[in-house]
Amino acid sequence: MDLAVILTYRCSSRCSMCHVWKHPTQPEAEVTPATLAKVPGGFDFINLTGGEPTLRRDLPEIVDLLHPKACKLEISTNGLHADRLVPLVEKYPDIKVRISIEGFGETNDSIRGEPGGYEKKIATLDRLIAAGGQDLGFATTFQDENSDEIVGLYRLTQEKGVEFATSALHNGYQFFKSDNGQYDRVRVARKGEDLVTEMLKSTSVKTWFRAYLNLGLIRKILGQRRLMPCTAGTDFAFIDPWSDVYACNVRPDLLMGNLVEQSWEEILHGETADEHRRKVAACPQNCWMVGSARTAMRHPRYAKLPKWEPLRWVLANKLRVSLGVRIPFERYVDYGDVHQGEEIPRRVSYLEDRGERQPLPKESTRYAEFDQGFFNR
Ligand code: SF4
Repeated sequence: MDLAVILTYRCSSRCSMCHVWKHPTQPEAEVTPATLAKVPGGFDFINLTGGEPTLRRDLPEIVDLLHPKACKLEISTNGLHADRLVPLVEKYPDIKVRISIEGFGETNDSIRGEPGGYEKKIATLDRLIAAGGQDLGFATTFQDENSDEIVGLYRLTQEKGVEFATSALHNGYQFFKSDNGQYDRVRVARKGEDLVTEMLKSTSVKTWFRAYLNLGLIRKILGQRRLMPCTAGTDFAFIDPWSDVYACNVRPDLLMGNLVEQSWEEILHGETADEHRRKVAACPQNCWMVGSARTAMRHPRYAKLPKWEPLRWVLANKLRVSLGVRIPFERYVDYGDVHQGEEIPRRVSYLEDRGERQPLPKESTRYAEFDQGFFNR
């Protein structure tokens, strides 16, 4: 169904919850258009992500190459480089662009280490709207520092007529982070309830199902089991900047092959991929990121349709909200089953040291700093 291509680990943001920017790839080592030409057509979604994908000078060439291979091509961006996005949206108005934003003003700028970032993102979104973009939106990661602003951000997207995607803090090798976690899980999860309720008031069917995605996020925040099993390596996969193909972006042990050395078919149908799918079926991580959640919600045979469980939940709770009845969250989420884990150290904003920052290392240390022991915090 879905493929994510991590085009680069270079990034112009300095997020506290993702340290990709500390481990930039060298441009000449990054996956090339010739290698990406080996990706077959017929995907539901292909997501171009990073790092910051707009830092790739050959992004227009990559978009030309991959746009015909998916029903929907997405660019996940920090939105700081509008000049590189506008021509792409003018050429392909149906391209999906999600701009990462973590709150209003200083909240965003501090979490993401982006001086003036909030204002730039709003300006970028407005320019993309003016350029004729048909599938634009913001994407926000739930965390202690912004949980009071999430509903406000959602309302902002409604005013602008764009989409609102959410995620929660995760650890993973792709983020070079193993100490992400909530300081106050219950408080942040309760804020998620407000967003779920607000989304079910919408007239957009897509937004109702996004409410269900946020129900899954509440469980993730509380450290509980996924709403539905993960299908990494079967329904979605990741290509990293070195052309390595992984079942997911969290576990570095789920490497299925390399697209320079092998064909897509060899990777997908190889013994390694089969072995990793068995590991996925028993995976204890309980991630709930959009890639793993969206695919899990979709019908295995009719990918445009949802599975029965999310459909039933959406119908029941849309009706409740329409009648002014409170959603009985306690039926779906056990607030007595909170996995607090060890005390989480506060994440550091990199905003202040921007001027004094040392040059980034020339070569990535790859996964050297990654500590798998902290996965589940
Ligand atoms: S639940 Fe396991 S297999 Fe699925 S995305 Fe998370 S780490 Fe990967």
